Amino acid sequence: MPVHKNQIIEKEKAVVDGIELGPDWNRMFEQRVVFDYDTTGLDKVTDVEGAESMGWCYQCTQCIPVCPINQAGGEYGPRKIFRQLQQGMDLFTHDDLWKCTTCMNCLRVCPKSVDMIKIMPAIREEAVMEANVPDELQEVFENTFEYGNPMGESPRKRADWVKGAGVEVPIMKDKKETDYLWFVECYPAYHTRGHDTSQAMARILTTLNVDFGILGTEEKCSCDSQRLAGEVGLFEEFAEYNIKTFNKYKFNKIMTTDPHALNALKKEYPKHGGDFEVLHYTTMLAPMMDQLDLKKDLNIKVTFHDPCYLGRHNGEYMAPRNIIEALPGVEMIEMGRCKEQSYCCGGGGGGMWLDGFMSDHVNERLSENRVREAVETGADVLAVCCPYEISRFEDAVKSTGNEGKLLVKDIAELIDEAMGN
Ligand code: SF4
Ligand code: SF4
Repeated sequence: MPVHKNQIIEKEKAVVDGIELGPDWNRMFEQRVVFDYDTTGLDKVTDVEGAESMGWCYQCTQCIPVCPINQAGGEYGPRKIFRQLQQGMDLFTHDDLWKCTTCMNCLRVCPKSVDMIKIMPAIREEAVMEANVPDELQEVFENTFEYGNPMGESPRKRADWVKGAGVEVPIMKDKKETDYLWFVECYPAYHTRGHDTSQAMARILTTLNVDFGILGTEEKCSCDSQRLAGEVGLFEEFAEYNIKTFNKYKFNKIMTTDPHALNALKKEYPKHGGDFEVLHYTTMLAPMMDQLDLKKDLNIKVTFHDPCYLGRHNGEYMAPRNIIEALPGVEMIEMGRCKEQSYCCGGGGGGMWLDGFMSDHVNERLSENRVREAVETGADVLAVCCPYEISRFEDAVKSTGNEGKLLVKDIAELIDEAMGN
């Protein structure tokens, strides 16, 4: 940047230690910046309630190597967004707004607490209000609004999976009172592979003599991923509906197999008057494993993927591992990126429905990156405990050419198999 004449400070004559210095020798320059930035893009973001921390970034770059999008070739992470904002990017209309899976790995390492888990939903909410949303996501919002689930399935079929469980699955409408209210959530209720987990779970609970019930057709989506994708109004409406439904019945605890539902019910529903004790099924089952008669040796090597919304978001790392280690004939092998440093499957924060959009922005799907890592461990089974992961990883096993090398199974399926089912 050139120095302007009016930034030059010099005296015709200056005396320093008795020595006279002429203008050439006493010349100084006004303090100046090396670059001038247009702060409009950044100011527009930090002015939004919830997104203030974007302005706290001091560009240490810690967040970049841990960002799963960046690791998949997506040129991404808070620091990169910050620099682009300084260079005039309008995040409200830019594709970068939709790439973040809210996996929380950047916040884990950020010394300035730049919080993408708050920034992204806050800016996305504004974009949603301007109808500036990727088509695939808009369809999910409309499906959820109309049918109570993101897939657009009939609400009447929400409890159809119970027919294949082989045990009785009590419905709260008939039962009224229970110990555990099981919040099933959409993928476990509708997706074919979700059914496998739900049916296995019903058999495990029955074997353990757990007093439980489901809401059946009265249940609607927890809407946590829609909230993180910016549909805050939809989330609030659904939270209020689900809380009202919970309050119709008597129960001690809510249990769910879905870490996204866990996150909503545990952290967000209390803000709307729904304060319940909520457990992930692995947290519930880990201390009960010695009550099960696990008669079948599985004879497999297992590696485990920590769901972002169970691990980093809700601090549960050990319950799934304790269950896996209690299974007979199982050798557990950890992947390099595990526990707090776990990689992301790509499904969080709305990513579940943005695979088409993301394919233009990354070199490989996040699920493919993760499956390659799982295969490298030499494991026979990639164990999961989130309903998004089972379909994402099974697709990735196929697309990376690893069919026959690696199976993807929910932990509930592994317990069920060890029970001899
Ligand atoms: S870790 Fe935090 S402060 Fe450092 S570059 Fe990333 S966002 Fe900025
Ligand atoms: S939350 Fe995850 S995906 Fe989003 S920017 Fe941070 S590390 Fe990347």
